[in-house]
Amino acid sequence: MDEKPVPSSPAVSDRMSVARRRDTAAEMLVRREAHRRGLRYRVDSPLPGMPRRRADMLFTRAMVAVFIDGCFWHACPIHQTWPKANSSWWANKLLKNVERDRDTDRRLDEMGWVVLRYWEHEDPVEVTDHIEVTVRGPTRGGSGA
Ligand SMILES: [Zn+2]
Repeated sequence: MDEKPVPSSPAVSDRMSVARRRDTAAEMLVRREAHRRGLRYRVDSPLPGMPRRRADMLFTRAMVAVFIDGCFWHACPIHQTWPKANSSWWANKLLKNVERDRDTDRRLDEMGWVVLRYWEHEDPVEVTDHIEVTVRGPTRGGSGA
């Protein structure tokens, strides 16, 4: 049921590999920026209670799980495209991905984790700003109060 179809054309094949590459690039930019700011995290780490699912970045002490979702694979509302070839397989596949994302969010939330999800098209510096505030808390390093 979850078998991969052979890409039906060079275009589909290209899109599959480009989507994968972009996933990695977006993650790498955020990881590098977070690391530069002194944030420490686990990379591509299995999730608590869900050994087959992974977060892109896991802050175990702060209990924050970060996902940088690829626009294609996670059905970004702005950039989502639905391949014409093998369309029902793709629709099923992508909808399953989204369902699994929501299920993962819910289960982490029930365990007391904070779930942060970003799209690969988001600005890596802004994404890192948000991660940093969430992990460190708004008061850390602030003056006054
Ligand atoms: Zn997008």
